Amino acid sequence: MIESSPGISTTAQVVEELRARPAFVMVSHVKPDGDTLGAGLALGLALKKLGKRVHYFQQDPVPRNLRFLPDSEFVSRAIPPDLPPNALYVFCDMSDWRRAGEFLPPMTRENMLDIDHHLGNSLFGKLNYVLEKECSTGTAVMHLLRELKVPMDRDIATCILTTIMTDTGGFMHSNASPEALELAAELMRAGANKEEITEEIFLKKRVAATKLLGRIIDAMKFGHDNRYCYSYVNDAMLAQTGADGEDTEDTVNVLRGQDGVEVAALFKAIEGEIRVSLRSNGRVNVQAAAKRLGGGGHFRASGLTFVGPLDRAFVEVDAALVAEGL
Ligand code: 5GP
Ligand code: MN
Repeated sequence: MIESSPGISTTAQVVEELRARPAFVMVSHVKPDGDTLGAGLALGLALKKLGKRVHYFQQDPVPRNLRFLPDSEFVSRAIPPDLPPNALYVFCDMSDWRRAGEFLPPMTRENMLDIDHHLGNSLFGKLNYVLEKECSTGTAVMHLLRELKVPMDRDIATCILTTIMTDTGGFMHSNASPEALELAAELMRAGANKEEITEEIFLKKRVAATKLLGRIIDAMKFGHDNRYCYSYVNDAMLAQTGADGEDTEDTVNVLRGQDGVEVAALFKAIEGEIRVSLRSNGRVNVQAAAKRLGGGGHFRASGLTFVGPLDRAFVEVDAALVAEGL
């Protein structure tokens, strides 16, 4: 049982902690996705039902495609000055608290709860509810809500179904297990709006985003007997197409989907920073490759920030992937 692993807290321990605290700050990671935000909103909505005070901290603005999520209008980078000293900061979907960004004020471990499903979580919290077998952080939250005995409602269900659909790529990835599908069915029965999630997160595209995708596809390169495909996006490409960083979301999957490609990388050289997204078909562990360069994630989906010039990033990511068997 994963919950009896050393350093991992049990559902009962986390629920006891949640019951004991009067106020909460749900914390999501920089460059937020539907899992980090949906998990925090779901738990926040549930804790409010129990009469708790809840705030949502996120350094970056809510991405356009997640603004349909209930309570997302309350997400901000501000921390209220009158929070009680025992307010609990709940970090969702990050293997280390630093992924929350430099705007998060310092706090003691005593006030940190870590809820996650990544490989290699640094177990930074007082309690660490790290369930690596869960398809999303949101399903870990769902297990907590059951034990908390908070009745599921339409809003909470929509948030959690968003986490499942985001992290399974609309039920396409290998983590779309029978268990994940059963939880999704339960959420739909509770009123989760699957149509809206599909439309907002997977179908709707800005024309600028599609034009940018064309540029990224034009710039594709192949290596290692065409088992590796990579491309890049830079500020000039964004300016020429009218797109922004949010519009790069998911384009790496197009690279990974090319015939014979086992590993894909998208290098995003935007506003003086190089972010790299890695995807694998399941043979090469891209989490291990990202970790070699200070990043992390999952076996088949990982990311990192590269410090240095873009041509150096191409070389070093290639070397890290080769070291992991590419
Ligand atoms: P994406 O390519 O969508 O940005 O990230 C894919 C996965 O890798 C996500 O699960 C994300 O949390 C993880 N990831 C992305 N960048 C980083 C990073 O810089 N550090 C760590 N630890 N994980 C990352
Ligand atoms: Mn996740």
